[in-house]
Amino acid sequence: MQKSGFKLTFFEIRLKHIILYHRFFIHLSTKTKSMRTSIITEKIEIEDIINQCDVCFVGITEADGTPYVFPMNFGYSNGEIILHSAPEGKHLNLLALNNKICATFCSERKLVYQHPDVACSYSMLAKSVICKGSVTFIDDLNEKMEALNITMKNYTDRSFKYSKPALINVKVWRVKVEEMTAKAFGQNFK
Ligand SMILES: Cc1cc2nc3c(=O)[nH]c(=O)nc-3n(C[C@H](O)[C@H](O)[C@H](O)COP(=O)(O)OP(=O)(O)OC[C@H]3O[C@@H](n4cnc5c(N)ncnc54)[C@H](O)[C@@H]3O)c2cc1C
Repeated sequence: MQKSGFKLTFFEIRLKHIILYHRFFIHLSTKTKSMRTSIITEKIEIEDIINQCDVCFVGITEADGTPYVFPMNFGYSNGEIILHSAPEGKHLNLLALNNKICATFCSERKLVYQHPDVACSYSMLAKSVICKGSVTFIDDLNEKMEALNITMKNYTDRSFKYSKPALINVKVWRVKVEEMTAKAFGQNFK
């Protein structure tokens, strides 16, 4: 009798645990719904995300079709991404085969959670932008200077002069953005 009495209590406790867990996960899933991902459509808001970034991740295509993604500093103005590089490199060899690129930007990252012990309650507040376009290279030295100024403006308010050899040596990439999408993640997190 004693034993079966203990068993009943044990199962009651298990049942209570199950009910509590069940309620907790319903609570979490409700919270998750309230921190849904949203699509950003306002151009000004999308450009604001880009302008908050100091690095973008540029994806191009390897000769065998696999992706090649690398970080780059950049400038952005009037629907154009400005990039610059050394005059040689793997990326330039690949761009000669296929000049289409995808650039990703991510800003306002913040780790948040509902409960520190529950992995699936963790989330990241963030906004990100994906831009697609094709690279053309700027040859005119005055245009290169303007493009480099756009890049420098992303990092400092100072103005700069560039020597002719430096301008000749740098490869300046212009990407006219043809497709731009943006998403906000976990913005309603409470
Ligand atoms: C924060 C940041 C900002 C940067 N900004 C610029 C920029 O504005 N302009 C610029 O030209 N470069 C920039 N770089 C460097 C850039 O990411 C590339 O490494 C560089 O452009 C050389 O690329 P490549 O294709 O010519 O490489 P190569 O030197 O020709 O490649 C040789 C091999 O090295 C590997 N490799 C190349 N780059 C990287 C990398 N970043 N990480 C790991 N492995 C790599 C590749 O697998 C490749 O096969 C930046 C890097 C960082 C971290």
